[in-house]
Amino acid sequence: MVPPMRMFPATGISLIVHKYRGTGRVVAFFTRERGKVEAVARGVGKPGSRLASLVEPLTLSRLFLAKGRELDYLTEGEVLNPFYGLRSNLRRFGYASYIAELTARATEPDLPMPQLFQTLCASLEALEGGATPDVVTWSFALQLLAQLGVGPVLEQCANCGQSLTGQIHYNPPAGGLICGDCAAAGALAGCAVSGVTAGLLRCMATFPIDRLVRLSCPPVNCQEISQLVRRHIEYHLGFVPRSQRFIEAIETSSKQHHEGDAKT
Ligand SMILES: [Zn+2]
Repeated sequence: MVPPMRMFPATGISLIVHKYRGTGRVVAFFTRERGKVEAVARGVGKPGSRLASLVEPLTLSRLFLAKGRELDYLTEGEVLNPFYGLRSNLRRFGYASYIAELTARATEPDLPMPQLFQTLCASLEALEGGATPDVVTWSFALQLLAQLGVGPVLEQCANCGQSLTGQIHYNPPAGGLICGDCAAAGALAGCAVSGVTAGLLRCMATFPIDRLVRLSCPPVNCQEISQLVRRHIEYHLGFVPRSQRFIEAIETSSKQHHEGDAKT
């Protein structure tokens, strides 16, 4: 006789969905209780599936999961927040997809990270509420990196530990910002970072996301932050999110059409 499967409830956000055996789907959820959970949802491709709305990427739901021998299964659930506002705007959707992919690829299954779950929810709420997408996204990325223990060193020189004087640089192998003396020594040269950008990075890495909504970040500094965070992710997490090309394409087209946030 087959033993009954152990059931467990969880509150989670659908991050990434892949097709599985016809109408099934494998879904990566990020849950408050267990961190990343990958579960099979059966019959999602069939009309009238009760599970279809739960697996839609960027949906927050109360989930009921069953522990199988090798895989977990989604049995039922209830949508708590469908984040419709993220789907109606291509720029917001692009950044939200980047946040989802980064979370799915950077975290380990069954490793509870309740603070990261909270940061993730707050970031999606801020994006949906109309906050500047790149500020929210790079803040989320900096806080995710810090919670994984690989955040960039921003408070003092990542090489010598002294205060950040002179022309600050960012150096990926050193693990963060380096002082003018260390940068001048040659071997550790990286990209130059302005004092304003360094200050903004510290705010973005530490402030609660709902407070960062009011952070004013000039485009030139945001550009520096974006490059620094993307280099840090590539060097310290070892991958480049696929959705990065999507947001780069959105930004390029947005610049070409001279559209600002006011129009989106
Ligand atoms: Zn130094």
